[in-house]
Amino acid sequence: MTADPAALRDAAIAACKAAGFHRMGIVPLAPSARADVYGAWLAAGHHGEMSYLATPEHVAGRADATTLLPGARTAIVVALAYGADAPPAAPPTDGPVALRGAIARYARGTDYHLIVRDRLQAVAAALVALAGPLAWRVCVDAAPLAERELAERAGLGFTAKNTMVIAPGLGSYVVLGELLLAADVAPVIAEASRARCGDCRACLDACPTGAFVDAYVLDARRCISYLTIEHAGPIPRELRAAMGTRIFGCDVCQEVCPWNAAAPARVQPAAELVARDREHAAPALARLATIGANQLRQFVKRTALRRIDRPRLLRNVAVALGNTGDAAALAPLCALLANPVAQVRGHAAWGLGALAAAVPAIAAAAHAALAAADDVEDDPDVRAELAAARG
Ligand code: SF4
Ligand code: SF4
Repeated sequence: MTADPAALRDAAIAACKAAGFHRMGIVPLAPSARADVYGAWLAAGHHGEMSYLATPEHVAGRADATTLLPGARTAIVVALAYGADAPPAAPPTDGPVALRGAIARYARGTDYHLIVRDRLQAVAAALVALAGPLAWRVCVDAAPLAERELAERAGLGFTAKNTMVIAPGLGSYVVLGELLLAADVAPVIAEASRARCGDCRACLDACPTGAFVDAYVLDARRCISYLTIEHAGPIPRELRAAMGTRIFGCDVCQEVCPWNAAAPARVQPAAELVARDREHAAPALARLATIGANQLRQFVKRTALRRIDRPRLLRNVAVALGNTGDAAALAPLCALLANPVAQVRGHAAWGLGALAAAVPAIAAAAHAALAAADDVEDDPDVRAELAAARG
């Protein structure tokens, strides 16, 4: 059984619509036109600890997606919108704030990897039903694919100065997915939009940690998304204050974007991607500081939060508590100062130092806790954190 390219195109359009994707396009695969840009980004070390991005397999996949599936000829590219009208992720940091952490919008609901994968698998099944046995591969973020370039080629949007894809009408609060097919499918390419960033540079100026080297160039090592999710080691001290209460990801360079302000509220986000409840949008930091392993498993179940382990989450919580400027953060930070994981204790020490500086009323108690910890601490890194916090 075979199907001609036009029949496959029509079936793909219908299946993507049935799956609820907000945008779709179909493009023949071709070598990336931006492989040199990616190579330069890697050579500058902007990928930080994400060494998988520099493996030969990853570089080859990004340069030529046909290496990802034998016989691959076509990509169906889809976009699914999430929470453009959700409240801002982070409360203001210039004054006392509630003890709530901030989670990036995309991570508040069910893990988008699962949602987009399942929906693209349904699209693949529809095409196989039409064409018979057909090699295909679903890619959702994890595959080494130059997906933003593909999305642009498919007419879904344009690559913006904040390095996100902006889909005019939807904004940048979209997740992308691709279905690679070992078949020719007639293209579906939206009429090229003239929309671009123009003279705007709001995202570049608003980034709390100064992570943009230039327009379109992000140094991941300074990005809060990278620091809270990908980065395993200690968070550089000089960046901690700028993280505010963000414990998983950051939306600032999207929140300030006029394209998102203009994204119409009439766009109904995928229901599964919307925050399940308040705790998944802005969790209570004191609760997270003492959460048990089983409770945490339940909390992160089927969410993107699964990507970080408990010590990394508690490290982020310690920094966030230190940035609350709220006396109520003292007790949970003292609890974290006794955590069995050295890195958590080290960041709790920093948090107590930051809190003591911001809230004079609890400074004596915070310094007493730091001194008591210093008396019994053996780990040299934690001792260094304690010394810095006490100093
Ligand atoms: S996600 Fe946040 S930290 Fe990262 S570049 Fe955007 S504004 Fe900066
Ligand atoms: S904030 Fe301005 S420069 Fe940044 S992505 Fe949006 S339109 Fe482009």
